[in-house]
Amino acid sequence: MSMSAQACAVTSAPSPDGVLRERGQREVFCGLTGIVWLHRKIQDAFFLVVGSRTCAHLIQSAAGVMIFAEPRFATAIMEERDLAGLVDANDELDRIVDQLLARRPEIKLLFLVGSCPSEVIKLDLSRAALRLSQRFSPGVRVLNYSGSGIETTFTQGEDACLASLVPVLPAAHNGGRPSLLVVGALADVVEDQFKRTFAALGIDQVAFLPPRRSSELPAIGPETRVLLAQPFLGDTARALEERGCRRIAAPFPLGGEGTALWLAAAADAFGVSRAHVERTIAPLKARAERALARYRAQLAGKRVFLFPDSQIEIPLARFLAREIGMELVEVGTPYLHREHLASELTLLSQGTLLSEGQDVERQLDRCRAARPDLVVCGLGLANPLEAEGLTTKWSIELIFTPIQGFEQAGDLAELFARPLLRQTRLAV
Ligand code: SF4
Repeated sequence: MSMSAQACAVTSAPSPDGVLRERGQREVFCGLTGIVWLHRKIQDAFFLVVGSRTCAHLIQSAAGVMIFAEPRFATAIMEERDLAGLVDANDELDRIVDQLLARRPEIKLLFLVGSCPSEVIKLDLSRAALRLSQRFSPGVRVLNYSGSGIETTFTQGEDACLASLVPVLPAAHNGGRPSLLVVGALADVVEDQFKRTFAALGIDQVAFLPPRRSSELPAIGPETRVLLAQPFLGDTARALEERGCRRIAAPFPLGGEGTALWLAAAADAFGVSRAHVERTIAPLKARAERALARYRAQLAGKRVFLFPDSQIEIPLARFLAREIGMELVEVGTPYLHREHLASELTLLSQGTLLSEGQDVERQLDRCRAARPDLVVCGLGLANPLEAEGLTTKWSIELIFTPIQGFEQAGDLAELFARPLLRQTRLAV
């Protein structure tokens, strides 16, 4: 070792619940991509991908623009001799971790991130994490999760990372006082806004997962109410529920309506009166509506097609249809978590075409036939579709940009208006 997308196979027919389920070729990033935003969020963590040169290239090109000094991620590159079993991959990994921690004493939390190659040679990273944790404890905690394209798509990397943190969260001893845990990486600015709003609502015991520092791991227990900030955290939510936490059912905080309903669901769980909620959020919601009005004028009636990519497609579609007035041609999602998305699905109008999974060629055919005004898709599909005269929006931008909350509602709408505006200018 030295330091330094995927495919599968085939059906396509609407199921009895009306959702089109496809199991063909996919065009989605693997879960390693999550490192790009997670390494910025947990400021004393380091992500060591145990992978190939391909993995290193993926991470570096996805995060490249953000490298300015010493990045907090790297790839332990498995060479041919590792893959051929000519050396002990565990010894090699230990050697690299030794070097890394000697050189970077500020690292307090180290994630060993599995990849396709490490899974293929069955390198047991959970045992490696245990071994290294014992060796470097108490200064450094070592955890592991998989970001491989065999097991995960795009945002599932964050789910796997947060789920790996749940067993090490301390037990809460707050004398039966309920606390709120907001789960899912949010930009710091968004987190601060939500903290202020929760305080104004009278909810003061609030923590966030992931935390900004590994020394600030939130304590959890049966009095913890979990509010998901992202719709792709199925494993994390399950792990938290196994530790006794209870999830608050809510839509996701995208747009004025989504944010208001998300906050109201939390307030309900904490016994805050509806009148107080209304009073507190009315000015914030009104500001979001004013910001959205201008984009509604540009986008209402335009037809949008969402390819499956980040798993935030359904909340996005709800926002685009209900707050912006766009027409939904098809809403694709890699996985449809019915329980976590129940509040979202009731807000979508009946008859909306939902698809789960992907058979990319068939989906491209449907998209071409529909000729939507805007296509939301991954980088790999955007260029060919643009070449065919369709206007696209990269879905990855929706993950890298702060879009949650009232203050960001206008920015979220602008992300969809911009490509159409560019198209109009080019046409002129
Ligand atoms: Fe490619 Fe797999 Fe590495 Fe992801 S984990 S970059 S899909 S080889």
